[in-house]
Amino acid sequence: MRIFDSGKIAPDFYVTGPPGGPVYLLNADRPALFDAGVSAFAQAYVNDIRAALDGRAPAYLFLTHAHFDHVGSAGVFKRVWPDLAIVASPTSADILRRPGAIELITLLNAGSLSLAREQGFEPLNEAPFEPVTVDLTAAPDQIFDLGGGLTVQAMAAPGHTRDFTSYWIPARKILISSEAAGNNDGAGAVLPEFLVDIDGYLANITRFAQLDIEILCPGHKLVLTGEDAREHLRRSPAATRQYIAMAEDFLRDTKGDLDAAAEMIKEAEWEPLPWPKQPEQAYMLNTRQRVLKVWERMQAK
Ligand SMILES: [Zn+2]
Repeated sequence: MRIFDSGKIAPDFYVTGPPGGPVYLLNADRPALFDAGVSAFAQAYVNDIRAALDGRAPAYLFLTHAHFDHVGSAGVFKRVWPDLAIVASPTSADILRRPGAIELITLLNAGSLSLAREQGFEPLNEAPFEPVTVDLTAAPDQIFDLGGGLTVQAMAAPGHTRDFTSYWIPARKILISSEAAGNNDGAGAVLPEFLVDIDGYLANITRFAQLDIEILCPGHKLVLTGEDAREHLRRSPAATRQYIAMAEDFLRDTKGDLDAAAEMIKEAEWEPLPWPKQPEQAYMLNTRQRVLKVWERMQAK
């Protein structure tokens, strides 16, 4: 099944905030949040989380990576729930301390605030991104106990970014892959999301495909369950190789002009997508980076 709505989607498992930029919640003895969306939706997440937990406080916030649309409300969460333990990879923790990264995260969150305002989103958090400190760093494969037989396994998954961690909840067969396994266009097509390491990215998907998955959370737009979840993982490697071939063609056509090739990919991939979709500024930053990685790989051959 493909679930495009927020709310309770499985026993004790919720999508909070808008599905395009969700925060996932697993209710347990020690409730856990996964990712922190954008700053503009902070109040929407907090309202949904409070309602689902009946006023109890979440114990953990697990961050997949330090991109602006995955850490945007973490500082608000920490202010609202001061005992919340924020968990991320050591690399994410480093990135979130760097002034340059904080500046970029703040800028991109301001961009998505403008977009949310234009679209009349309510309730809107108008405050800028609040910087955040990681409390606990997750080692590869580290297991966190939520009580009542529920555990969360951190899975180091560099490829989309260097700092990436996916999270596996074995008792519920839920994988919070976020972008480590690519996005889904909603019709079933997989959009590759490698940014730093193409081969590492493909290796992560192979590892995920070996898990007994019932619920897959790609990080944006929708949640996939059952056969749709497994189908996404099956299609993801081929979609990645197809994307690489397309980028190689454009790079050959433009004689290695990275900007021109990125524009051609935007026309082929991003422009046909309906809204809501990734804002153009963030999409182009990422596409330019993917084109660079393909170019480097061509040169190394
Ligand atoms: Zn990302």
